[in-house]
Amino acid sequence: MKRVAIIGAGPSGMAQLRAFQSAQSKGIEIPEMVCFEKQADWGGQWNYTWHTGLDKHGEPVHSSMYRYLWSNGPKECLEFADYTFDEHFGRPIGSYPPRAVLWDYIKGRVEKADVRKYVRFNSAVRHVEFHPDSKQFSVTVHNHVTDEVYTETFDFVVVASGHFSTPRIPEYEGFGSFGGRILHAHDFRDALEFKGKNVLLVGSSYSAEDIGSQCYKYGAKQIISCYRSSPMGYHWPENWSERPQLLRVDQTHAYFADGSSAEIDAIILCTGYLHSFPFMSESLRLKTDNILYPLHLYQGVVWEVNPQLFYLGMQDQWYSFNMFDAQAWYARDVMLGKIALPSFAEMQADTQAWHEQEKTLQDAAAMFKFQGDYIMRLIDQTDYPSFDIEAVRLTFLQWKKHKQENIMAFRDNTYCSLMTGTMATPHHTPWIDALDDSLEAYLQTEADLQQKAG
Ligand SMILES: Cc1cc2nc3c(=O)[nH]c(=O)nc-3n(C[C@H](O)[C@H](O)[C@H](O)COP(=O)(O)OP(=O)(O)OC[C@H]3O[C@@H](n4cnc5c(N)ncnc54)[C@H](O)[C@@H]3O)c2cc1C
Repeated sequence: MKRVAIIGAGPSGMAQLRAFQSAQSKGIEIPEMVCFEKQADWGGQWNYTWHTGLDKHGEPVHSSMYRYLWSNGPKECLEFADYTFDEHFGRPIGSYPPRAVLWDYIKGRVEKADVRKYVRFNSAVRHVEFHPDSKQFSVTVHNHVTDEVYTETFDFVVVASGHFSTPRIPEYEGFGSFGGRILHAHDFRDALEFKGKNVLLVGSSYSAEDIGSQCYKYGAKQIISCYRSSPMGYHWPENWSERPQLLRVDQTHAYFADGSSAEIDAIILCTGYLHSFPFMSESLRLKTDNILYPLHLYQGVVWEVNPQLFYLGMQDQWYSFNMFDAQAWYARDVMLGKIALPSFAEMQADTQAWHEQEKTLQDAAAMFKFQGDYIMRLIDQTDYPSFDIEAVRLTFLQWKKHKQENIMAFRDNTYCSLMTGTMATPHHTPWIDALDDSLEAYLQTEADLQQKAG
């Protein structure tokens, strides 16, 4: 029997487990699966930890998520086609659930599929190497429970270790002697730490937008975000200003390219992440920026030089969970021999063409379409349930519009499920006032709240 190693049990790795289990449930023989997860539980980024830096085993803490994080896009855009929110929660819920609610949803599908038995937790993959003679991989793993390092052999490897964990860290003049705290978004955990403080956010993408919003919501005194190329441009609250590039800091102040300066207490570097796979041997290691169509991955998944190796979820992500599914189903069918791959040259040319096409995309709407087309291309080749990707794109456009209208209230909007047609229900409390992000608080109904109040 063939063996497949899946590295990481986040949403991508869990999608791979579910994809194989789905085939097995239809009577198809599948390879022996072993999923290595360095944390004690599954869910990847959605499995929250207060830890930063190194964990208790000395592993770099994977999570970059923080308390009070709510979905940054409509849940309707990431819904699994084979396991809907309706099925999981048994009733409609809001469109932007907090982290714990989405974690619950992701877990629900794989618990139902009974695939946890394939995961070896507390197991960090240290090294992956391909042996041309045997045409197999050796995978070296550190089992932190027994403190043993061992090596096993596999026919296929699926890298699903995520790419929002290794911080990209810039250096600015004066950082070494700044009098307050400097941290990367990777280590941001609780906005309450910045209550009453003047916070400088370096960067202008999702992390800056959302961490700044968290700080605003939980009482920061002043927020300044600064950009290199262009501002985020939303209608920010009065105590949030956008400034051009940071030039330097001294012990108490930050200085910007427009000649302005401001007193600041803390600096949060929202400067992105690096794709990092130190455990892959050099010839197998993906090196890419965070883009929609990385080179070297045929159909965004297959390592062209060695099609026994797959990478899942390595794209910049407008779509997330259902894109990982499309990829996992595709990778599965390549491994099962149901999908035949073209020659190396043809794979390379195909990837290059998509990669070039990405460079022509002018705006977010074009990017939604591009990634949606990519996902549909994968789904058309497997038995993953198809869905109306054009409708998802329209929901993304509504989301963009709602953010432009009110960045502090866009999460109060609701959308229609594109899988079931169910309309989401407005959450019982506007996002700005909902300070408790727990699953229990979120899932309270009006009746629960009235009973509590009464
Ligand atoms: C702050 C933040 C907010 C986000 N918000 C959203 C959102 O609102 N909506 C959305 O759709 N997406 C969001 N994302 C994107 C998120 O990354 C994806 O939703 C999803 O978690 C990616 O799944 P993944 O399995 O590819 O990677 P991850 O979730 O990163 O999981 C990778 C897993 O691999 C394990 N691993 C890594 N290295 C090793 C190793 N050497 N050995 C063994 N195991 C290893 C990790 O422990 C982890 O469990 C957010 C990401 C961040 C960082």
